[in-house]
Amino acid sequence: MRTETRPKIPKFKVRQVKKSPYTIDKSKLRRFDRKNIIFERVEWDSSWEGYKRMYNETMLDLLSEEKPGYSRIDFALAYASWIVHDTFAGGFSWKKIPLYRQPAAMAEIDWTSKKYEIENPKRMSAYIKRAAKLFGASLVGICKLNRDWLYADAEIPEKFDYAIVMAIEMDADGIATSPTAIAAAATGIGYSKMAFLLACMGEFIRNLGYDAIQCGNDTALSIPLAIDAGLGELGRNGLLITPQYGPRVRLCKIFTDLPLTPDKPIEFGVKNFCKKCKLCAENCEVGAISMDDEPSFEVACKSNNPGVLKWYVDVEKCYLYWCENGIDCSTCIKVCPYNVSSAGKVEVSPRDFWKEDL
Ligand code: SF4
Ligand code: SF4
Repeated sequence: MRTETRPKIPKFKVRQVKKSPYTIDKSKLRRFDRKNIIFERVEWDSSWEGYKRMYNETMLDLLSEEKPGYSRIDFALAYASWIVHDTFAGGFSWKKIPLYRQPAAMAEIDWTSKKYEIENPKRMSAYIKRAAKLFGASLVGICKLNRDWLYADAEIPEKFDYAIVMAIEMDADGIATSPTAIAAAATGIGYSKMAFLLACMGEFIRNLGYDAIQCGNDTALSIPLAIDAGLGELGRNGLLITPQYGPRVRLCKIFTDLPLTPDKPIEFGVKNFCKKCKLCAENCEVGAISMDDEPSFEVACKSNNPGVLKWYVDVEKCYLYWCENGIDCSTCIKVCPYNVSSAGKVEVSPRDFWKEDL
């Protein structure tokens, strides 16, 4: 850790806000072109250093060094964690998922064309939130779908009025080992849980006769939707900061035509605290996070979406660090005081991570 004295978050109260949680320059804001996502640019954009570079390019060298957190067992864990996300297509389905064997009684029910009658959208919202928790969401909120946050080429029919936004807590011990492969496993399992959660929620909605579009990082920007749905505020590190887990969450969303009641955005002092804290910026190995006191409209690279007042993260630098590290990094999550206050720890060594239950 580079900072001796760690800023402590003051006691905070979460309050709902009626005004927009953003300061927007409409002349600059446009729907994000997905081809500028950093992973896409690796494939097509020869104008930057990360072109055709894979972030596991140093993995074999690291394996031979047997460095703690980068051993065979650690990489095995990291790659295992993604398996459900990467292989279960049902997680990101926009249509009903056929059952292998449909019980006879179920065949009698016309799930898709006979709508469940909803007289009270507030009650329905409560059902949705309870179901999401049952299926594995740590946090869930609802917002009207602001189409500014859809990717430029996403065509979502007008009837999809609402987004159900869900956050999945990542393992605190795993993240506390960042930037090792163990921390990457904590991230990967967040994505695999997301596939499970989305599939169950999408089917729950379709079984009521409504439509559901299940999305991970695809189709729309998750962070502004999560802010709209009252899950948290935007931090200097470019991530959603939640009151419960800080930035130690993964996000996913479902667009639906179910009649629901939206939540309100919240504030609990993140913006002002970030102005002084800067721990994420100080601990980023490659200076990818702004050290400026104030947020601005100035983008850091082509993979940023302009038009919102914030601290823009240089995701090119971030990705190049991943290439050097042999796997992704979560240090700006690990060091954030909003994570530490919920996780109860900043740092866990790979050795201590594996020691558990021995
Ligand atoms: S993920 Fe790591 S490299 Fe990227 S911005 Fe965060 S701390 Fe920096
Ligand atoms: S670590 Fe970064 S994101 Fe977290 S409170 Fe400090 S400045 Fe904000």
